[in-house]
Amino acid sequence: MAGKLIGIDLGTTNSCVCVLESGDPRVIPNREGSRTTPSTVAFTDKGDVLVGHIAKRQAVTNPQRTLFAIKRLIGQRFDAPRVQEAKNRLPFPVVGAPNGDAWVRVGERDYAPPELSAIVLRNLKQAAEAFLHEEVTDAVVTVPAYFDDAQRQATKDAGRIAGLNIERIVNEPTAAALAYGFNKPGVKQTLAIYDLGGGTFDFTLMEMNDGVFEVLATSGDTFLGGEDFDQAILLMLVKQFHEKTGTDLTGDRMALQRLKEASEKAKCELSTLDKVDIRLPFIAQGPSGPLHLEASLTRDELEQMVGDLVELTLIPIKDALEQARKTAKDVDEVILVGGQTRMPLVQKCVKDFFGREPNRTINPDEVVAAGAAIQGAVLKGDVKDLVLLDVMPLSLGIETQGGGFVKIIPRNSTIPLRDARVFTTVTDNQGRVEIHVLQGERELAEHNKSLGRFDLINLPPLPKGVPQIEVAFDIDSNGIVRVSAKDLMTGLEQGMSIRPSSGLSELEIQRMVREAEANIEADEKRRDELKYIASAEGLIFSCDKSFAECGKYLNEEQQLFIRETLGQARQAVSSRDKAALQACEADLLETQNLLTEAVLAASEAMMKAMDEEGGLPS
Ligand code: AMP
Repeated sequence: MAGKLIGIDLGTTNSCVCVLESGDPRVIPNREGSRTTPSTVAFTDKGDVLVGHIAKRQAVTNPQRTLFAIKRLIGQRFDAPRVQEAKNRLPFPVVGAPNGDAWVRVGERDYAPPELSAIVLRNLKQAAEAFLHEEVTDAVVTVPAYFDDAQRQATKDAGRIAGLNIERIVNEPTAAALAYGFNKPGVKQTLAIYDLGGGTFDFTLMEMNDGVFEVLATSGDTFLGGEDFDQAILLMLVKQFHEKTGTDLTGDRMALQRLKEASEKAKCELSTLDKVDIRLPFIAQGPSGPLHLEASLTRDELEQMVGDLVELTLIPIKDALEQARKTAKDVDEVILVGGQTRMPLVQKCVKDFFGREPNRTINPDEVVAAGAAIQGAVLKGDVKDLVLLDVMPLSLGIETQGGGFVKIIPRNSTIPLRDARVFTTVTDNQGRVEIHVLQGERELAEHNKSLGRFDLINLPPLPKGVPQIEVAFDIDSNGIVRVSAKDLMTGLEQGMSIRPSSGLSELEIQRMVREAEANIEADEKRRDELKYIASAEGLIFSCDKSFAECGKYLNEEQQLFIRETLGQARQAVSSRDKAALQACEADLLETQNLLTEAVLAASEAMMKAMDEEGGLPS
């Protein structure tokens, strides 16, 4: 692991990248100088791929090709109820891929969510490289604690596609706790990390004891976040507008995008103001002309609208406390993470539940990336005396005869770990068993998430119940699972193949890596082109100015030549055509030379005129 290792918080709404410098985590600004980057990717009509603020800014005019909240889809099956729900809300089409996963359609092409997240990751990688003046290949990336195996795998795939080796996946709340407890030697505390971001809610209980961080329990909801608050406002605005004007905005994607942005803005403003006005002129066309949306919202009204959502966060909190056999009183410090925790109602709910003010000393937008950078430095050996003991967020097990689910690894087990259980056959002379690996908490296999299946074949013919088949689970520090099976009777570990029930195949990942690399070249080329065009634009501007002021000092033929050259160049610039610009480069240089002469002639003439008038003393 040479070079610097960066920590990335790949958020649903915003992402942030950090590095440990001189012993302290430092946020790396993006190319525009911002400390966080919207996790938004847009494909323009001209074939450009935009990332971050620039992508977000053009969302209103390009809603179907501006992709956000990809984290809600990553590693998810298309038919998952939560994906179906998200699909109805997102302005871009979400489709089922041949492997059953949720993908995103842009024009004629379907994109796997890891491919889209890779575009954001690559952008962050490039920002880090520009900032650190060196190539960056290694990263620690955070995920919600509640991400299951498929979601973690898919996040790792995104890293590979982006040319990043993800050294470790860390749970977001764990990263936040690391950032909080970093450089606090000798302190022993029970921490509660309440993380309400754009798309997910995570709650983690952790014990910090002199540099050892041990997760006690984690719980959460992968589909509860700030966007649900925005949606509540949006629905209220749509309803009010319908009542007032009789016009239903739900089918108008562009109007919905504007409403979404206005709703989020109003929500954020109501964290500091008591009342906001929402104005969206020309939101629709009515029978007698354009219609404008005008509404106002108070903080009280907002709190009534979203009170239930805030209350929903208490369910995972109670669950985690129970798992860890703790009560709210045992908690020494509550750390708030995620932009949505800026809402006063959220802070009040947390305060009421724990009976203490939450800690506000750390920036909720940056703390997760900071923790990832610290974990990166631990992996590199730059930070010592810091140990992280994380847990498995969901139980793991296999399907049994009749569709039941038997848990082998209970949730909240500390990782990394290995555990095994012995199974047997259910019929006489059974030559083969199928092992179906699942993750979840439900009693029936069909209600849990399928991670994959494999067959154990060529079992010796024996009466039922006699063969002993050991199924072993290996979970690494990333929370990623490997399963193997062994026939203890013959001592042979059978050849087996895991058929992933979702996710990208190796071939697909390789194709995406190749495409992403080809895109970098195309992007670089396009960036060079745009730079060249921009410098030509500057030249044309200054030539125009000199020509207007001093053109008369040139003869008619020269003036005609300059007019024609500048006209051609202007046309090439307006059609962003580098080749056409290059074709008139020599003439542009000649124009510049002629104009330098003209400027000189003009200043000589001015001097002469001043001399003749008796002018200034020499
Ligand atoms: P994150 O995923 O942590 O970047 O959180 C983003 C979420 O926080 C989005 O839903 C934002 O609308 C929300 N958010 C950001 N700032 C505020 C604020 N001042 N008040 C309420 N919500 C906010």
